[in-house]
Amino acid sequence: MDDNRLVELTKQLIEYPSYHFQSSIRVVNFLDSYLLDETDRDAEIDLINNLDGSGQNIPCLYAKNKEEMPEKPTVLLLGHLDVVPADTPQFTPCINGSRLYGRGAGDMKAGVAVATQLFIEHYKELNLQLLMTTDEETGGKYGTKIVSKMLNPDFVITLEPSDLKICTKQKGALAIEIEAHGPGGHASRPWKSTNAVDILIDMYNRLREFFPDLDTELWTNTMNVGAIVGGTVKAEKDRILFGGANIIAAKASMKLDLRLTDNMSHTEAINIIKKNAADIGYKLKGRSDSLGLIDNCYKILVNEPSVIADHLITSEKDTFVRQLMESYRFCLGEEAELYSGPSASDARFFSKRGIPTVVFGPISVNQHGENEYVEIPSIIDTYRVLDTFLSTVKRD
Ligand SMILES: [Zn+2]
Repeated sequence: MDDNRLVELTKQLIEYPSYHFQSSIRVVNFLDSYLLDETDRDAEIDLINNLDGSGQNIPCLYAKNKEEMPEKPTVLLLGHLDVVPADTPQFTPCINGSRLYGRGAGDMKAGVAVATQLFIEHYKELNLQLLMTTDEETGGKYGTKIVSKMLNPDFVITLEPSDLKICTKQKGALAIEIEAHGPGGHASRPWKSTNAVDILIDMYNRLREFFPDLDTELWTNTMNVGAIVGGTVKAEKDRILFGGANIIAAKASMKLDLRLTDNMSHTEAINIIKKNAADIGYKLKGRSDSLGLIDNCYKILVNEPSVIADHLITSEKDTFVRQLMESYRFCLGEEAELYSGPSASDARFFSKRGIPTVVFGPISVNQHGENEYVEIPSIIDTYRVLDTFLSTVKRD
């Protein structure tokens, strides 16, 4: 395999601004023709279109050998062709020294290029499958989530950037909104009702005790407040007309993002939030001279989660993981590093079904940011390790 080919293909893929629908279709079509040409139209390539909630087609590409070999293992290479939005110049790839810059260079056009070349090289010799989706950055609901249910690979490799570490665990994610409602009132009489903002601050402090870690990369459960809004503010265009300082806030809400290790399920996390919301009740000021009984005005609502992403959990002792580590040592001359990562990926959809799945890909910096780049030698290393791995697997 010519190393240049991997770099050229990565550059071609970066040129598609695949954060919007039309470009996603174009990049899927490009990959389709590339694979047809390179396999002399011999591989089976399906373009799958699933409809999202608004009736929009979400395309993805699935490729495999036409002939199945029951005695050989089935390995699936997983990737996504979509990127997060960026300004136009970021879609012109640019090489500086060992770095290849561009939106999606690391996340994950380089990984797609490697997976594509590996497929072309190996698809005839084992049951190698390729699945490339276009909605990973928006949750993978219409790509991997649906398609994974129709497939039964023995092992899945997602070629997201992993700094050449073998990632066997990724945290689950939970996004949830909590609302506090109270009767409000005049700021001069704070003894008459509990302020909705104070209720939320109380909630925040209670939850922070369960999720205290803010300064460690260690494998712990974490909590981020993405947004917090409360009180009454009247604004016109950019000008605030009325700041509402003299009102006891009657409503406040916060959006939380929890990242959960394998020691906490989503249900446990939701139960912690609900229990603390219930415990706050006793503190609320229940009566007002002018309004009479106001208990009913208080509500702490724990809304349905807007995101529930499962954990990725694969045993480090899995035979395929061991073979991948062996291939790493053989190619790169050192021990592979196993890694547990904080972010979720489409890998979770296969892991949820009990299929051993890992993330393994090149070294990438500034993903989702300006100046995203991928280290070119690490693209080649990713290819070499997986090329050796697939050669080993097909012999066994
Ligand atoms: Zn990605």
